[in-house]
This record gives sequence, C-alpha cells and structure tokens, in this order.
Amino acid sequence: MEPMSGVAFGGGLPSRLSLADRGQIERRVQEIGRSLLEQSLAAEPTAVSPEWWAQQAAEWATHDDDLKVRLFRLVDCMPMLDDPATLDRHVREYVDDDVIARLPPSLRLAFQAARSSLLAPLAARAIRAAVLAQARRFIAGSNPTEAARAALVQRHRHRGFTLDLLGEAVTSESEADAYAGAYTRLLTELPRHAAAWPADPLVDEGPDGPLPRVNVSLKLSALDSQFDAIDPSGTAERVLARLRPLWRLARANEAQVHIDMESHATKDLTLAIFRQIAMEDEFRDWPHCGVVVQCYLRESLRDLESLAAWARDRGTPIWIRLVKGAYWDFETVHAEAAGWPVPVWQQKWRTDACYEAATTFVMEHATLLRPALGSHNLRSLAHGMAVAEHLGLDRRGVEMQMLHGMGDPEKEAVTAAGWRLRIYMPYGELVPGMAYLVRRLLENSSNDSFLRAGFVKHVPPATLLAAPGPAASVDGVPDDTATAIPPVADAGFRNEPLVDFSVAASRRSMQEAIERLAARFAAGPIAVPIVIDGQQVESGEAFPRRDPSDHDRLLANVAAATSADADRAVVVARRALPSWQRGGWERRAAVLEKAAEILRRRRFDLAAIEVFEVGKPWREADADVAEAIDFCCYYAHEARRLAQPVRVDVPGEENTTEWLPRGVAVVIAPWNFPLAILTGMTVAALVTGNTVVMKPAEQSSLVALRLHEILLEAGVPPAVLAFLPGRGEEVGPTLVSHPDTAIIAFTGSRAVGMAIHAQAATASAATGSRLVKRVIAEMGGKNAIIVDDDAELDEAVVAVVQSAFGFQGQKCSACSRVIVLDRVHDACVRRLSAAVKSLRVGPATDPGTRVGPLVDAEARDRVESFIAEGRRTAREVAAVDVGRLAGRGWFVGPHLFADVDPKGPLGQEEIFGPVLAVFRANDFSQAIELANGTPYALTAGVFSRSPAHLQEAAATIQAGNVYINRGITGALVSRHPFGGYRMSGSGSKAGGPEYLQQFLVRRTVTENTLRRGFAPPRRSE
Ligand SMILES: Cc1cc2nc3c(=O)[nH]c(=O)nc-3n(C[C@H](O)[C@H](O)[C@H](O)COP(=O)(O)OP(=O)(O)OC[C@H]3O[C@@H](n4cnc5c(N)ncnc54)[C@H](O)[C@@H]3O)c2cc1C
Repeated sequence: MEPMSGVAFGGGLPSRLSLADRGQIERRVQEIGRSLLEQSLAAEPTAVSPEWWAQQAAEWATHDDDLKVRLFRLVDCMPMLDDPATLDRHVREYVDDDVIARLPPSLRLAFQAARSSLLAPLAARAIRAAVLAQARRFIAGSNPTEAARAALVQRHRHRGFTLDLLGEAVTSESEADAYAGAYTRLLTELPRHAAAWPADPLVDEGPDGPLPRVNVSLKLSALDSQFDAIDPSGTAERVLARLRPLWRLARANEAQVHIDMESHATKDLTLAIFRQIAMEDEFRDWPHCGVVVQCYLRESLRDLESLAAWARDRGTPIWIRLVKGAYWDFETVHAEAAGWPVPVWQQKWRTDACYEAATTFVMEHATLLRPALGSHNLRSLAHGMAVAEHLGLDRRGVEMQMLHGMGDPEKEAVTAAGWRLRIYMPYGELVPGMAYLVRRLLENSSNDSFLRAGFVKHVPPATLLAAPGPAASVDGVPDDTATAIPPVADAGFRNEPLVDFSVAASRRSMQEAIERLAARFAAGPIAVPIVIDGQQVESGEAFPRRDPSDHDRLLANVAAATSADADRAVVVARRALPSWQRGGWERRAAVLEKAAEILRRRRFDLAAIEVFEVGKPWREADADVAEAIDFCCYYAHEARRLAQPVRVDVPGEENTTEWLPRGVAVVIAPWNFPLAILTGMTVAALVTGNTVVMKPAEQSSLVALRLHEILLEAGVPPAVLAFLPGRGEEVGPTLVSHPDTAIIAFTGSRAVGMAIHAQAATASAATGSRLVKRVIAEMGGKNAIIVDDDAELDEAVVAVVQSAFGFQGQKCSACSRVIVLDRVHDACVRRLSAAVKSLRVGPATDPGTRVGPLVDAEARDRVESFIAEGRRTAREVAAVDVGRLAGRGWFVGPHLFADVDPKGPLGQEEIFGPVLAVFRANDFSQAIELANGTPYALTAGVFSRSPAHLQEAAATIQAGNVYINRGITGALVSRHPFGGYRMSGSGSKAGGPEYLQQFLVRRTVTENTLRRGFAPPRRSE
C-alpha cells in the first residue's frame, strides 16, 4: 500500500525524499519487514516458556475489562503483600466467586484453591510467587551486580544494553540523593569491569570510533523532589547540581548517558535541561549523550526540528531515541479530566505515521541526531532500516533498541539482519518497579499493540506491515471508533480548565501580571473603599494590608465600615429587592455568565492579586479564580433549572410551585479562597433574586473589590450589591441582627459560625421580627487521611503532603491528621518526614514556592503556639526552619508530629497552618474510629488497595467529602459538591444541585378550577 503522502514520510517536515524515493523505500520496508517477521515467528515462544504464559494471560485479560482491572490491581499491590494474612485477604477480595467463574481453566484452579480454607495460604503464596516471577521477567535484576550480569548475557548475544534504575516518584531530597548515588556507583564500578569485556564490533563500533560499552538511562524527575515545570529555572538548577557530576563521571569513565522522557507536562522542561547541560563547555563536544522523543506526542516533529537546529549550533551530535511513548492512557485521561488539549495522537496509525516521519527526519539529519529506534513494531523498525539503507547511512551510526523481557523472538531477527540492537534493562526493587511493570502489562494487553497483533492474534503479515494510514488498523477495527473520547461532563456545565503552567506562555502571562501589580504597589497602596448603592462612602478609618511574603510591601488601605454603614447597606439592599426580583431568572443567569467571561479575561491579574494579598502560590491562586468562574457558570445553569415552575394538576385543580427569593443576603467570606468562596456565596444569592451585602475578609479586601467591580460591570445594579469592607467584629453583628437581613451566608471558623447562628436566632426571636433568618455556615474541619498497610506509599506521601501543606494548610479541607496502619507506620513516617523537609518555603511570587507565608501575624502566632504544644506533647519528626524569611514575612515552616494524643489539641483543634499530626492505628477499624473522633465532618481520605477496606471507608467515614486514593483538597464545582456536617457546617453543599435552594423559599399556588361541575381542559406541560 502506498503511504499517505505527507503523513507517513513528511509529517510536515522538510525532506529530501522524492515520491519515487518513497516508493522504493516502501518496497524495501515490505521485504525487510517480511524477513524480520518470518524469523521472529519461527522463534515464537511456546507453551513451555514464561513469555508464552505472559502473553496468554495478557491476551485473555483483554477480553474482560472488569477482570483486567481487578487482576492488574491485584498484581500492582502484590509486592507489598509480604505478610501471609494480608496476601490471603487480598486474593480473596479481588478474586471472588464471580471472578473465578470467568477465569480460564488454567488459572481457575489456583484461585479456587486460594479461596478454600485448607489450601488458601499455599495457593495465595504460589500466586504471588508467579506474579512476582512475571514481574521479574521485565527487570534485569534487583541490584547493580545482577543487572551487570544480565547486561553481560546480552553482550554474549551481540547486543548492547542501557541500564535504568527503577523508581518513579521521588518524594524527597534524600530519595533524589539516593537515586543519584546509585548511578554514581554504577558509573564508577561498571566501566571498570567493562574494560575487560572482549570487544564485539557489532555492539562497540560507532560511526566516529568506539562507542561506550556502558550505557545508562535516567529520569530527570528522579533527581529533584520538587521537579515541576512551573519553575523551570529553579528545577533546572537543582537537577543540574545532581546531573553534572553524573555526566562528568560518565565522560571520564567512557560511559554513555541517555535521558528518558516521562509525562508530557515535563517534556519541555526535560528537553531544556538536556540542552542546557549538553551546551555547557565541559560537555559541548561530548557525543555520548542522548534524549528520548515520544512520537505519540503531536508536538514531537516540531521538537525534533528544534533539536536538529540546536545540535547544529552545538557542533557535536547527540543520540535521539525515538519511541512511541509509554504513558498514552495517562496522558489521555489526565488531559481529558483537566479539560486540556490531549497531547497524544488519538489514533494509533497517526502515532505510527509520526514515528516514521520522525525516523526519516532524524536519519536525514544523522550527522546531528544519531538515530536510535526504540520499538517492538517490526513495521516501524523495517521502515527505519529501509530509510537508513536508502540514505546510505553508516550502520554503525544507527541502532535499534528494545525492552528487556519483551518481544524476545524479534531480537534475534534484528541482530541477524546485521543491525546493532541495544536492550533497555531496568533493574531495582519490585515495589518501586511496579509502575513500570503495569505499563508493560498495559502495553502487552492493548488492542493496538504490535506485539499482541503479531504474536498473539496472528494478524496477517500484509496488515502488520502495511504503511500507517486510516485503513491500516491491526485489529481491523477502524481507529476512529476505537479511540473516540467521551465528553467530560453533561452539555450544561463544564469546569473551567486550570492554567497549564507547563506551557511557557502561561508562565509568562502570570509573571507579567505579577510584575505589573508589583509596579502598581510600588507607586503606593490601592484604596479599597466602602461602596453602597454604587457610591463610595467616606470612612473615618482605614487599615493597611501588607504583603504576607514581605511586610515592607504595602498593598492596600482598606476602609473600615462602621455599624451605621452596615445598617444603611442593608436598607438600600432591601429597597432594591422588588426590581431585581422582577428582572427574572434568565436576566440574572445571563449576568452571572457575563461575570464569568470578565473573570476569565482578567484571570492572571486576579490570580496575581491573590499571590500578593494572601500569599497564595501560583497554582493555588489560579485554581481559586477558576473556581470563581465555575460558580458563576454552574449557578447560572442551576438557576435556569429552578426557573421552571413545577406543576402538579389533577382534574379540577391546578398546582404551581415556584421558588422565590428570601430577601437581603449578607455574605461574610473568608480570606483563604478569597475570590472563589466570596463569588460562590454572592452569585448564588444574586441569581436567586436576593440582594446582597458583601462583607469580604479583612485580609483579602482588594481582590473582593475587584469582584464587586466585575459583578457591576456584568450588569448587577449598584443598589443590589453593596461592598462593605471592614472589621468583622464591628459590622458583623449589625449585619446579622438587622431585621431586614433574611440570609446570612458565612464561611469561616467554627467560633464565628456558631456566634452567627446564635445572633441570628436571637434576632429572629426578637419581638417585632418578621422573618426567621436563614444561616448557611460552612465551618472548619480536622480532616484525616488513612494510609492502609497495602497503600501505594509513593502516591500516599505525595497526596498527604499536598493536602496538608498546599496553601500552607490554610484550607478548611486541608489534611491535618494522617492515620497510618501499624505495619507501614514507620516507613510512611520516614518518607513523609523526608518529603516535608524537602518542601521549599518562600515568597508566593516565586513560582517554585511550595509553602508560602501565613496570612497574617495572628495566624502565625496561633500556628506557632500549636507547634510549641506539639513539641511539648508529641514527637517532632520534621520541622522546616524558615531562616531569614521569618524577618521578611509571616512564615512558618512545615511541621510533622508523630505519637500525637488523639484527644489533645493537635488531635482535635483546627490549626489552619502547615502542621500535620500522625497517628498509629493497629487495624483498619481503629483507623476509621480515629478519623471519626473529632466534632468535625468535612473532608477525609483513604489510601488503600483493599477493595473491602475501601468499601468500609466509603460507608463509615464521617465526612461530607470522602476521597479515595487521592488528595483531599481541590474539590471541583459540580463534580465534587463541597461541604460537611456536624460542626463543619449547616448548609448544603456548595457547587452542588441543592445549594441555590437555600437562598429561596418555595411557594405553591393551588387553584380550584371546577365551577359548577365544569372544569377547563388540563394544562399541557
Ligand atoms: C529502548 C526503549 C526505551 C524506551 N524509553 C521510553 C521513554 O523514555 N519514554 C517513554 O515514554 N517510553 C519509552 N519506551 C517505551 C515505548 O514508548 C513503548 O514500549 C512503545 O511505545 C511501544 O511501541 P512499539 O513501537 O513497540 O509498539 P506499537 O504496538 O506499534 O505501538 C504502541 C504505541 O502506540 C500508542 N498507541 C496505542 N493506541 C493508540 C491510539 N489509539 N492512538 C495513538 N497512539 C496509540 C501506544 O501508546 C504506544 O506508544 C521505550 C521503549 C524502548 C524499546
């Protein structure tokens, strides 16, 4: 079949190849491909080899999705299950009778035995041993000695190798040191042995002389615990501090270093760091380094072009390992969930075509980019070989690469054809290696996998070797239908995507907004006035607001409203009620949508205000603006739903029920989500026809003023929305007790929330009162995450740290207790402690800051008193000293305490700061009891891989929002309606379908339509 012009070959890249060249190449691809395929099929694994079993298991799993998920999950946690009782329990939980009935006969027996009481321990252990043996197939040993031995075996087969130390998430600097240390030992010791290995020309000879015998691959994310594309320069600096010595060692000891590629979010950063080091004087003339390009990425060809231009400038070639990419499912799901463009091709043939275009490009630039083709797809490899031949490339300058334990029959064929083959050999412990294994299992059981098509499904050679194109799907299924992506949400509402800070333009926009604002503050503080009925009100007193990251920077002078201002604001709002109500639902919903539009336009400027005003790190500030947009859109959507009157008619009687506004709403908002929560409560009240007096938190009055301006610009009449900055103690009681205040929407501390409840009740009961005030109060939390003894600790540690220390722990949803099962307690505390110590504390304006300042001096003093209490009553296991920052802003470093008394202040009181308490639980039930052992019920989480424990947690943890195997902050409007019960709050969930009803009363009109036995026909719907 002719390749699609411009897709299979060019892909938009310039190429010297003419159409005739392409035709010749394609004919050669078929010849080479057939020959490779025939030889590989002849060496196909048989039923006696472990590879055959692996293929069969993967194959059979592809037919039953539920089974596949269960078995992959069981496999994933196997290495953790080293205690017989836990192992036995997991096997039973994952493989119940229903699952057993669906298993193939060969496996059914083993799992049946594992469920029978007599044989259970033996069978479960046998199953674990078999799984671990399969996992080890993909791993070249658990330590450098075993890996070196395995590498030598490859050399005996005339193949090269590249060693890769297993491990994914590096959660602390000590782990990053350990990773670098392991490579240091490898690069010190292995070259010494390698010098004595007999030469092998096929493996050792390169285009310009001998190639290094030792070749290692490494992941940059493992060299820095805070590896994050939001802060490219800070990340690069830290990574390079560990990478430089490794490159130096490799260069001195004649080894080669290859940089692996991970997720798309870190791709540009990885390429930038690679370029930076390779350009440094001491490495600029070093050819034995390389980087991976993943061709499933739509951007891959553009990246290659820019790498070629850069390599020309460098003057020394680099190696490019072309792969298709190992994280396709993750990239697709992650982007879809985030509402970002999916970075990977969505049709397999496009990935293949892109791979061929990339191969051609790299080979045409082989003097700059040395081609290494990492693939098990014989069509892709044959194509590479044919292009290399056609271009007359020196074979010593090209290599094929394959994975250890995968596609072994193909390896013989490639070497026999006279090409250098390098085997990618991961080594290390199984627990950190399971993510790698699961990726291999996914690959082997994918419908689109070449290996599966060729060696399991025995798809005909003509199909396997066809040039990539829409018709050439290996399964014969048209790709378009196989890869269609389901929509994220229903048509009515979609969450506003967060800004992707791995994109340079986004980082620039944020940086510029921060600089603009800093310049504005330098010119003098911004005045935040009281605004009633659209008029600024003179206030006798104003108080300064300073930057929490830097006391010296004065941001704003905030007018302090008085009790008389509060009174007038309520009176004006009451007068504005009838016309706002008459305006109707649709008009009000449209105003919210307009406001969303303006918020969207000013997104970076608003986020920048939060960075200065409350010390929110970049990402958190952006998320707050996005949530404010969500509230506008979601409540507009909900309002249209509620606008429809409900009719229940019977013959002779018509009933109409509709929603009416309650009256004047007083919105008292906190500073910790200074835009989102204020917006949510305000627009909910507005869209339902109420008028509003908006009382922002003292600490975040500037961003609140901007919201007031935006809502007026969007069409809210000035009399409908008053802006009343000032001190809560001064205006709060007047607003709450005012006879015309119908609703108090409050978010904040439990103490203030309860005081509002009491004041509202007293005022409602007072003589002459004409309404019972409605109080909607979202209060605090003392939220716990349970870490079970089979939990994936990598994920749990990352999520606990993020949940506990994101925005310095100043979220009502923040994790402040972590309850760890005894068996993993010490390991978990060790890792948590190392991760906490690695957090970077700094000013919020710095994109690399993970922990910024506390909101004010009062907050700092309060948190410090809890830390002092922790030092007195518990064991401090991590404490980050903020050093000189303490003199600059209201900084308190993250703290971790173990052996905490669950009944003491650290176990019971909301701290609202970067302090985390750890508790030990003897069993899962006790863990739940501990989690439920406070008066609050807001958020909670559990990390476990036991289906039974997850079920138990979901059923019995007392919290408004329970999160399973993820962090417990960051609730999204509509997807995670947010709010708690018990002492955590008295309202229904924000961002949920019942929220607006709280701002409304329901009124039913019943009409008897029967007059003297005559009734009109029934109303049609
Ligand atoms: C030596 C070596 C080193 C490697 N290093 C890395 C690395 O650093 N980073 C990395 O990510 N991977 C790496 N890999 C893994 C590699 O990405 C996978 O093994 C490879 O993608 C499998 O591709 P294939 O050509 O062998 O198989 P094929 O079966 O031809 O292709 C599988 C590829 O197609 C993609 N695909 C499947 N379905 C679709 C679809 N519907 N639409 C679009 N694309 C689809 C898959 O994601 C996968 O990338 C490496 C592989 C080797 C051999």
